[in-house]
Amino acid sequence: MITGKCECGKVEFEVEAAQETLTVCHCSQCRRISGHTWACTHAPIDKLRFSNKDGLGWYESSSFARRGFCKFCGSSLFYQRNGQENIAIAAGSLNGPTGLKVGKHILVKDKGDYYEIHENEPQIACF
Ligand SMILES: [Zn+2]
Ligand SMILES: [Zn+2]
Repeated sequence: MITGKCECGKVEFEVEAAQETLTVCHCSQCRRISGHTWACTHAPIDKLRFSNKDGLGWYESSSFARRGFCKFCGSSLFYQRNGQENIAIAAGSLNGPTGLKVGKHILVKDKGDYYEIHENEPQIACF
């Protein structure tokens, strides 16, 4: 069981069965909403429970997915593809120690030109 929250605490949750390996997304949308890259774990949506969702908002970020965020502090928290059972949960929102580690980098073709990814870390150009 891992717990997490947004920066102001108006969204708080706990998640069971989170994947141990994180995905780090380098696409321009993730970088724009988060300020840099967006790292996440994944879990079945029914394993995610909210103890506070007063601040939880959703917006359609594309024709195939939505993103969850805090309406008060602006923290980027979730990403969910339409119709999928799994939800992506922002690694940065989790309370440590998480025991998780980075598994792979995705959409590296789209990464910013202002940083490098360590060459030993698995990188996937698209997905
Ligand atoms: Zn908040
Ligand atoms: Zn992305």
